[in-house]
Amino acid sequence: MFLAVVFAAAGCNRGKTTAVANQTPGNQASASASPAKPVDPVGPVLRIDSAKAWQYVKEIVAIGPRWDGSPGQHKMGEYIHSRLKGDQVEEDPFVADSPAGKIAMRNIVAKFPGSKDGIIVVGSHIDTNYPLRNTSFAGANDGGSSTALLLAIADQLRGKKLEGYSVWLAFLDGEESIPSAKPGDMTWSDADSLYGSRHLSQKWEQDGTNKKVKAFLLADMIGDKDLDILRDKKSTEWLEDVVFQAATRLGYQSYFFETENEITDDHNSFSRFGIPVADIVDLNYGYGNAYHHTTDDTIDKLSPKSIQIAGDVILETIRLLNGGAGGFASPAPVAASPAPKLPS
Ligand SMILES: [Zn+2]
Repeated sequence: MFLAVVFAAAGCNRGKTTAVANQTPGNQASASASPAKPVDPVGPVLRIDSAKAWQYVKEIVAIGPRWDGSPGQHKMGEYIHSRLKGDQVEEDPFVADSPAGKIAMRNIVAKFPGSKDGIIVVGSHIDTNYPLRNTSFAGANDGGSSTALLLAIADQLRGKKLEGYSVWLAFLDGEESIPSAKPGDMTWSDADSLYGSRHLSQKWEQDGTNKKVKAFLLADMIGDKDLDILRDKKSTEWLEDVVFQAATRLGYQSYFFETENEITDDHNSFSRFGIPVADIVDLNYGYGNAYHHTTDDTIDKLSPKSIQIAGDVILETIRLLNGGAGGFASPAPVAASPAPKLPS
């Protein structure tokens, strides 16, 4: 993903901008039309097992680079399936038309049925950075941590009677841009990024699934030892408020929303169809985001506690949504954030 608003970033390429700028305090309840009203959470209290999540991060990193078109990409898909054995899992295969040519990709969706009409989707991208394909880059944080988190969430949902909405876990391929080999062709664009989420959201628009999706929660780069989730201005305001409410309930509010910025990421593919979205992302990875999209994105920079915090806040957010938190439960629903125009 990249920051849409960049300050003092001259000379940086957009894919690995170092500025996390504009430090507007974002951790106060916003003055939105629909502030998150306190509600009673619904559904079992679920907490992820951070030791297992950590094991998943290690196993994913051990696969090696997982850029689209690589053997690692195929192994990653097989690995996800192996960890979801016995669950209801669907594949969404497609061929992406990228600047570097046509590349086979696949999203994987694990479905955990609830008792209430409607679906909450939790997403993560599973690919690693393509421009770094000739390096050792294995995306411990960027691609690894959030995918491990989804597997750890699956462990908690499996075999439980979910009293609230169904929860679907979307393992999304092709988040990263896939530039051609031409020198200088490194730039991320709307047409060259977010391949998996664009494909899945388009498919769900056509088959009517999007109408049932109450919220899309995206996790990205949540393993950073020094966790500071930013408040994303391209996410839906009331849903971000619910996330902050969940964090506060768990005593984790200090890790959330001290800064805010505009992030382009897989959530944008879903918000363009009016789905409420929240990107749970830490784009301050190392001093000045120095580890992002570099071979320094290694497991020693991560902590199981950070994955625990992100995972538990997501699970608590789901309980609050089950309890009626948020815009869609109010008599006059607030529209989702302005959806960016993306190619399908
Ligand atoms: Zn990335």
